[in-house]
Amino acid sequence: MRKSSEKKKFNTAIVFEKEMIAPCGMNCGSCLGYMRTENHCPGCRSDADPKPSYCRDCIVINCDLLKETESKFCYDCPKYPCRRLKNLDKRYRTRYGTSFFDNLVMIKEQGMERFLAFETERRRCPQCGSTLCVHRTFCFECGFKQHSQDSVSQQI
Ligand code: SF4
Ligand code: SF4
Ligand SMILES: [Zn+2]
Repeated sequence: MRKSSEKKKFNTAIVFEKEMIAPCGMNCGSCLGYMRTENHCPGCRSDADPKPSYCRDCIVINCDLLKETESKFCYDCPKYPCRRLKNLDKRYRTRYGTSFFDNLVMIKEQGMERFLAFETERRRCPQCGSTLCVHRTFCFECGFKQHSQDSVSQQI
């Protein structure tokens, strides 16, 4: 059991909000970078630091075509889905069992509130109720194994 003086490594009580949802469909609220308490990343849409360089310099958030969209989501772009997005979706489907394209379809067709509710349910540990991280197969609080992933990246 954690001593009260010991700093928590992860925030596992996250309330998902629309500002956390990146233009590509990633839910930054379930990201390891967002959930960690040290070097906590404020999320793709925030200008605050620290943000990993691969996300700060990501061509999606910096894309000129994205700036022209009304929704500020890639699904409104005439080039959707561009190669960068296809690669991202493939990587997350393969490694983390989640599809950005599916996320974007839900946001577009059913609205942000519905998507946030879906994510809240999907990322809630059935054993202890904590927020589950998309990049890890287990609950940080109780160790519940959430789903099988072929490989888990150490990149983020
Ligand atoms: S590391 Fe990238 S994906 Fe993760 S919360 Fe930060 S901006 Fe979002
Ligand atoms: S789908 Fe469009 S807005 Fe999104 S990164 Fe690709 S070109 Fe840019
Ligand atoms: Zn748990």
